[in-house]
Amino acid sequence: MKLSLVVPCYNEEENVELFYNEVVKSFKGENFKYEIIFINDGSKDETVTILKDIASNSKENIKIINFSRNFGKEAGMYAGLKESSGDYVSIIDADLQQHPSLVLEMLNILEGNPEHDSVAAFQEKRKDPFFKRIFSNLFYKIINKISDIEFVPGASDFRLLNRNMVNAILEMSEYYRFSKGIFSFVGFNTYYIPYEAEKRAHGSSKWSFWGLFKYAIEGIVAFTTAPLRIATFIGILISLIAFIYLLILVIQTIALGIAVPGYASTLGAVLLLGGIQLFALGIIGEYLGRTYVETKRRPIYIAKEVIDNNKKQ
Ligand code: UDP
Ligand code: MG
Repeated sequence: MKLSLVVPCYNEEENVELFYNEVVKSFKGENFKYEIIFINDGSKDETVTILKDIASNSKENIKIINFSRNFGKEAGMYAGLKESSGDYVSIIDADLQQHPSLVLEMLNILEGNPEHDSVAAFQEKRKDPFFKRIFSNLFYKIINKISDIEFVPGASDFRLLNRNMVNAILEMSEYYRFSKGIFSFVGFNTYYIPYEAEKRAHGSSKWSFWGLFKYAIEGIVAFTTAPLRIATFIGILISLIAFIYLLILVIQTIALGIAVPGYASTLGAVLLLGGIQLFALGIIGEYLGRTYVETKRRPIYIAKEVIDNNKKQ
């Protein structure tokens, strides 16, 4: 049996060596082979130098996929899965918020229960700030209502997958990747275990509030076309109201003669309708823009070098 660890790294110079040491310590004495695949996602610090040092000094099988620029964690995970050769593949962060020894627990679960294809860790108690919590709850409520697949609140990318599931994910080669959706879209049986994220060993999270907001929109646009129907529904509703209003006007005019024209109500209607139309156009634009980019079939990532310390040059 062979295990692959997929580790996306972006500006993790202070963490990668600690991470590597923890892995070696945790996996010592286990009777399986393993490889660690580090993805250097265009780090601007010394991450790649340190990774190369680790690869040349390590007795373990280390691979480095060195991206030509920052492509984002989603692209990193895809690249890692693609380069992986293990029967089981785990996606894990480089910042030690997720301890490598948990991978062993996940492995036990998968090996003991052949009916499960993957184990995913979800954060039971999140120490997120108040607003982030509210928005994330809202996001899960909305997306679960309007999309056909299930999004599990708090589920992280920290997972162990079997080869079948990895291959299925690799089949999904879309440019705009939203892994939480992809993991559920491919189906299979996932077993969820709670875990408590530890504090980041060094550095700070790469997620800003705005970044998360854009990511949420990404998820909605990637996994449901329901927003496109908003315009249809609002259109039908407004047409109905307008029709009833017209009827009332006709009856009023016949019964009471020409009424005094209302400037405010006309302006109000024009502005309201203008706003709704722009909103609807915006939604169409979101989808159209993504369709445009997807049709270019651009690569998800570009690696300037791939290093494998087992294949000595
Ligand atoms: N990461 C990456 N590319 C990016 C941003 C992040 O590869 O553009 C990596 C990062 O190095 C870390 C993991 O993704 O290993 C999770 O990132 P982070 O710790 O910032 O996220 P959080 O734990 O706060 O969700
Ligand atoms: Mg982190």
